[in-house]
Amino acid sequence: MTYIITETCVGVKDASCVAVCPVDCIYAEDDDVLMFINPDECIDCGACIPECPVNAIFAEDDVPEDQQPWTPVNYEYFQVGREETISKFSGIIAEAKEKNRDSEHANAALYS
Ligand code: SF4
Ligand code: SF4
Repeated sequence: MTYIITETCVGVKDASCVAVCPVDCIYAEDDDVLMFINPDECIDCGACIPECPVNAIFAEDDVPEDQQPWTPVNYEYFQVGREETISKFSGIIAEAKEKNRDSEHANAALYS
């Protein structure tokens, strides 16, 4: 199994989860608007879940139905490639970013 980062991380990406992950398996480039969990490295410890201010992280088996499009985003980022994945899922990423624009946790640097 693995853990999955979903819609509400987009445009927030505050890295609180990164700070607690014991195996450093949560990644993103500076230009990315969300974080991604490497499914081959995640040890399913759950430590990241309570750290997320927007409840974006779920165990793969617990991802709510409306968030399931984010499961392949996390997988493909590592298994297919960053550029291809950002391009393939640009629609839902842009939609989520717009949706989260007014979140109290929105990261202004990602909206400039
Ligand atoms: S479940 Fe544990 S290992 Fe997996 S991303 Fe979260 S903190 Fe890291
Ligand atoms: S803690 Fe939540 S919002 Fe922050 S980077 Fe991790 S998944 Fe995204």
